[in-house]
Amino acid sequence: LAGGESFAYQSDIARLMRVVVSHLYHDRDVFVRELLSNANDALEKVRLLALTDPKILEPAEQLNVTVLADAASGRIVIRDSGVGMTKEQLAANLGTIARSGTSEFLENLDKGDGSNLIGQFGLGFYSSFLVADRVTVASKTADKSEQYVFESEADAEGFKIAKDPRGPTLGRGTEITLHLKPDARGEYLDVNKLRSLIQKHAEYNSAPIFLWSSTSLDPWAPVAPKTPTEEEEATVEDADEDENVAKADEAAQWELVNDRPPLWMREPKDLTEEDYENFFKATFKEADAPLAWSHFKGDAGSTAFRALIYIPSALPNDFYSKDYVSLNSLKLFVRRVFITSDLGKDYLERHLNWIKVFIDVDDLPLNVGRDSLQKTRALAQIKRNLQKRIYDLFAQIAAKDPEKFSELYSKAGTALKVGAVEDSKNRDRIVKLLRFATSASNETTSLEDVVARRKQGQTQIYFIAGAGQTKDQLARSPFVERILARGYEVLYMTDPIDEMLINSVPTFSGLRFQDVAKDGVKFGDEDEAADADEDELRTTFAPLVAYLKKELAEFVDKVTLSTRLTTSPCLVTAGTFGYSGNMERLLAAQNAGQ
Ligand code: ADP
Ligand code: MG
Repeated sequence: LAGGESFAYQSDIARLMRVVVSHLYHDRDVFVRELLSNANDALEKVRLLALTDPKILEPAEQLNVTVLADAASGRIVIRDSGVGMTKEQLAANLGTIARSGTSEFLENLDKGDGSNLIGQFGLGFYSSFLVADRVTVASKTADKSEQYVFESEADAEGFKIAKDPRGPTLGRGTEITLHLKPDARGEYLDVNKLRSLIQKHAEYNSAPIFLWSSTSLDPWAPVAPKTPTEEEEATVEDADEDENVAKADEAAQWELVNDRPPLWMREPKDLTEEDYENFFKATFKEADAPLAWSHFKGDAGSTAFRALIYIPSALPNDFYSKDYVSLNSLKLFVRRVFITSDLGKDYLERHLNWIKVFIDVDDLPLNVGRDSLQKTRALAQIKRNLQKRIYDLFAQIAAKDPEKFSELYSKAGTALKVGAVEDSKNRDRIVKLLRFATSASNETTSLEDVVARRKQGQTQIYFIAGAGQTKDQLARSPFVERILARGYEVLYMTDPIDEMLINSVPTFSGLRFQDVAKDGVKFGDEDEAADADEDELRTTFAPLVAYLKKELAEFVDKVTLSTRLTTSPCLVTAGTFGYSGNMERLLAAQNAGQ
């Protein structure tokens, strides 16, 4: 690039570029995926901008990507009519690294899949240097700005930026020219090879991708074809004959490569697990395969929609932190066109803000801002539908694959409990998914199983709460012994959120939750003979009770005779409406901290 300004790379970048190139040497194909995904991102951005500023679409109405391989000059040229970049953006986006985490990237690279990592760490563009020894990026934004060129060489310590000497050749968008390394030419200038790579990597891009499929015409002359609208197709016959022939000739050289309907529009029976996993990774920029998914058609009153729900294999590390914001959790399309990945904070509710959802709606009013978009009736209805489907999917895993479910639950259990506390509409669905440690088994149990095991006449589900204590510690509590001695089951609530949960969910299947450390424990097998015995005992011990009441007046509300203990002589309980010992400890700790 003659003239222009020279810039030095930050020290890290030159090194990272070399690492990427040497590590992915056997995976050179990924440059196709990364550059197409950038082109697709740029097109999605321009569509989003067009919602509030339709003028942005004016210079180049056709939103697509074109790929040319020119054997004579050893170049591959990828053009998109997306947002484009200004001079400053070329320098900032292609010449610096936005995301920190270089050392994290390098560590992970030693462990495994580098080709997925470059996408995750925002290093996709540098994959160009896997196959090119020089890369030229011309770009122009929508306004009447000038067209600039960025150029860099593999192994270079810097890059150059200049006004494009050719003038404004692009209406709007970006043109990436890869000057192929001699050893990459044979492979990547082959149109068949390129086609299969585009098909493999571009299936999930929403933009049409055209490949120049011939070497017989000068590939530099034609611009991207215009896909005729239905109306235009109908009127083609009336138009000038010669012009039509010429146009047809040109158009015939442009081949639409990703012509299959996008994955979400196909039928689940025609799709493989691998299809779904790849779609997940590509759409949500995830490295690991999802745990489960559900793909369905739905109805939101006035409009139909299709959706895909994915349960990722793990929650984000900072999910339970107050400042968590989900990136990339949602994709909203309208009639196959990407609209937004931002429906405002917590569209699905905070506790579900780690599930990935993809929605394509048939009909949605789009001339409204994002805030009102979220409030449209259709989206509110879709939200309810999605929530139900998500909980159904959980339930399905629990029924079909308990092992998988317990793996999932170990990560998402607390989020589900938060859901049961906060989402009263779905509470019944969520509560069925909860699992608790129990005296009845070494495994955790569902509440449905607790109810199934109940003894005749039992009207309560017994539990003891002790946040931060282990199941074994709780099991040794004297409150528990009497219940177990009678052959009843006790749940051990070890999670800090459990007591809050019981406050929101006081009963399950008609049985009332009963804290065994509080008043009110009832057994279903108390018969009249026992009552008679108790009367007798009450008379016998009346003097002792009166004495204790007097002596302990300062410390306790009341003293009662109990038949609930077997080996401990006495115990101190909290009143039904009092704090449990556990809550008191929590409160004391909080007060001490103030
Ligand atoms: P990532 O896509 O993860 O951000 P990349 O290295 O692939 O990382 O791209 C870096 C940045 O360069 C992008 O975020 C985008 O701002 C810009 N960019 C790359 N390719 C294009 C393009 N074709 N059109 C517009 N901007 C682009
Ligand atoms: Mg990218």
